[in-house]
Amino acid sequence: MSDIEKVRCLIIGSGPAGYTAAIYAGRANLSPVLYEGLQPGGQLTTTTDVENFPGYPQSITGTELMEDLKKQAERFGADIRFGMATASDLSKAPYKITIDEKKVIEADTVIISTGATAKYLGLEDEKKYQGMGVSACATCDGFFYRNKEVAVVGGGDTACEEALFLASLASKVYLVVRKDYLRASKIIQERVFKNDKIEVLFEHNAIGLYGDDGVEGVHLVKRKGEADEEKYDLPISGFFLAIGHTPNSDIFKPYLKTDDVGYILTEPGTPKTNVPGVFAAGDVADPIYRQAVTAAGSGCKAAIEAERYLSEKGL
Ligand code: NDP
Repeated sequence: MSDIEKVRCLIIGSGPAGYTAAIYAGRANLSPVLYEGLQPGGQLTTTTDVENFPGYPQSITGTELMEDLKKQAERFGADIRFGMATASDLSKAPYKITIDEKKVIEADTVIISTGATAKYLGLEDEKKYQGMGVSACATCDGFFYRNKEVAVVGGGDTACEEALFLASLASKVYLVVRKDYLRASKIIQERVFKNDKIEVLFEHNAIGLYGDDGVEGVHLVKRKGEADEEKYDLPISGFFLAIGHTPNSDIFKPYLKTDDVGYILTEPGTPKTNVPGVFAAGDVADPIYRQAVTAAGSGCKAAIEAERYLSEKGL
């Protein structure tokens, strides 16, 4: 292949982890090259106001925050490019990453900050009302539903935690569960059942949303016995998905250790993967916290570790 470029620090992904890594790597003179991926700015660009990122007492929109982080990284020399990593060869250094199936980057260090993608049900209405009542992050968007009625879809730990969080703000929370039991851990289930504001709708599926100016309700189907079902509409203002996330780690899996779901495993407390010089930061390695600020923190750690690795190797 002719189109090969050599870099010292390659950052893949443009969420808070990737841009923060780029700021630190730029300031450390690593001349980082960052590929933005399919969704420049990452998951935060799908939300509206961000009120929990430190330093913004009046809040900031997700898009503005990401544009600011990008400008900050560029100010320190990060080379930010549009493009998607489509293949990897981490078998030996320098590591080879293919961009858009044609260009190959040879990198001494790689920071993987490709994020995770929230799963959606696949309804057309989820796209139609994205940012207008549909959200996959209660911690990010719950505050906008104070004293309103909302629904959370899912029966795992995330769904139950999101329902409990929302119950502290909303007037009523419906937990829409497709089976007749919750998959969440017992202790969290108990909290859900004890909470007066939460009503669990077992054996329910959401099949659509309605509303003229944002979400005003959800079309539900309740299973009744083997062959019977009942359709009805439930008025709500917020529709939260909590049916799991998919970490964007597929192209690295032949080389990196991951958990069963695909989250990249790192040395506890560090962004170090099992391949020296390859680091994972942000949601691709974090099934638990998944916050912009924790992602940013891990991006910072990854850049510091990349700098140490390069100086130890004399690169
Ligand atoms: P899970 O995979 O555990 O649960 C997903 C839930 O969504 C299940 O109830 C599943 O239903 C439901 N679901 C999936 N697809 C659909 C669909 N198409 N329609 C309707 N419902 C659907 O994901 P979580 O994000 O909850 O958790 C991921 C991991 O992180 C787990 O290991 C969890 O224990 C852990 N975690 C731990 C926390 C803690 O300990 N504090 C907090 C958050 C997560 P079904 O059961 O029918 O498959």
